[in-house]
Amino acid sequence: MASNAPTASELQSSGFFHPIIDKCEGCERIVEANNNKYCQTFAFPDAKWRLGICNFATHKKPEIVVSTIKVNPLKAAKRASGGGKKK
Ligand code: SF4
Repeated sequence: MASNAPTASELQSSGFFHPIIDKCEGCERIVEANNNKYCQTFAFPDAKWRLGICNFATHKKPEIVVSTIKVNPLKAAKRASGGGKKK
């Protein structure tokens, strides 16, 4: 099966693709041509990191923090019913 991914020389010759940035190092989408590294997915790798982690990065994943909070079901029911304090 033939790959539709552009080759590194095609990316470079197009003149549209910008070289990767430091944060991209280690990503599997990097292709190299004439000592320049390009992303085969995005033309402007810098823009993909502007708002955080690149969503297509293969080497970094966002950390999801899961916190476990113990809830007392009796207190939760009391809170849900409108308090519990007598007036
Ligand atoms: S997919 Fe994202 S992290 Fe990987 S090389 Fe391209 S811009 Fe960089």
